[in-house]
Amino acid sequence: MRRKTKMIHGGIVGDELTGAVSTPIYQVSTYRQEAVGKFKGYEYSRTGNPTRHALEELIKDLEEGTSGFAFGSGMAAITAVMMLFDSGDHVILTDDVYGGTYRVMTKVLNRLGIDSTFVDTSNLETIEQAIRENTRAIYIETPTNPLLKITDIEGAAKIAKKHNLLTIVDNTFSTPYWQTPITLGADIVLHSATKYIGGHSDVVAGLVVVNSKELAADLHFVQNSTGGVLGPQDSWLLIRGIRTLGIRMEETEHNTVRIVEFLSNHKAVKKVYYPGLSNHPNHDIAKKQGGGFGGMVSFDVGSEENADKLLASVKYFTLAESLGAVESLISVPARMTHASIPAERRAELGITDGLIRISVGLEDAEDLIEDLAHALSSI
Ligand SMILES: *Cc1c(COP(=O)(O)O)cnc(C)c1O
Repeated sequence: MRRKTKMIHGGIVGDELTGAVSTPIYQVSTYRQEAVGKFKGYEYSRTGNPTRHALEELIKDLEEGTSGFAFGSGMAAITAVMMLFDSGDHVILTDDVYGGTYRVMTKVLNRLGIDSTFVDTSNLETIEQAIRENTRAIYIETPTNPLLKITDIEGAAKIAKKHNLLTIVDNTFSTPYWQTPITLGADIVLHSATKYIGGHSDVVAGLVVVNSKELAADLHFVQNSTGGVLGPQDSWLLIRGIRTLGIRMEETEHNTVRIVEFLSNHKAVKKVYYPGLSNHPNHDIAKKQGGGFGGMVSFDVGSEENADKLLASVKYFTLAESLGAVESLISVPARMTHASIPAERRAELGITDGLIRISVGLEDAEDLIEDLAHALSSI
């Protein structure tokens, strides 16, 4: 099955019982047992629910793993994965991971004795240097936010295997339409399905896919024990989102290429960050490991004042956090998603006050470009 077909025919399609083409929403908590312990595969919806199961089978197929798991948010998914580790274990993470991942590692899981080190994983040597005796995993986010740095997944997974570590990849930005980390050697792939997978700014959810029966058993144990499961209605919304993921990612790519070209040639724009640009430092790796470069673009307009002028005049770009939806979104990382990072550290990373991040949506590219052109003319 090719990729777009798999989005539509993957997993469990429809309903065996009635022939319904769409998976029904099994809004149910418990299931009748014919005798003690004799039931039709489901006993209680924290443990398993047919709508959630259909979603979990679908994401498993898309990510080419052995089992899928759906959680109430991306952070619940990440936390459950970290619960595979014990007190005293150590994890190496990408230095500019999603802020919530940084927070849960350094303010919550550290209290339980799970230790973390953040390194520039786009440089494979720094990963190897950070490995300690108690290291259990390498956790990669690629591309990153907001500077779109790329880590070589295959290279990192090779290092991990050599040292007997797990490779975990946050695949939120690329989606399984463009990038399937398990095929590159990763053991666990996870998503904030709130973003491209849901795709319509109407659901908060997380997904995990693992590549072995052992990891599947361990993660199901954690999911059932800690209980951060996704409800049936939201599971259904994600299945619905995935059916159009292929076409949405293709169209996003077309729009983004045109917008990046426009921004790159505009004199009010100091710098454009996009892995699809041939001058991006990891362009070749991005090209090799993903079929496309996605819809996230960052660009620098030089100052906070210029950023504010731009934000005040855009019409189709909604000022909001989040990404990956049908509508285009715009944000200022320094004062929004990355505000909690000290100013000095932000400057080191390149997250300047004039840095703008956009998530390109599915409007007509001409309208989006006209909107940006008009807004940039005010600078
Ligand atoms: C949003 C996001 C998360 C967290 O997901 P939630 O669904 O908001 O809990 C994790 N990783 C990345 C890359 C994200 O963009």
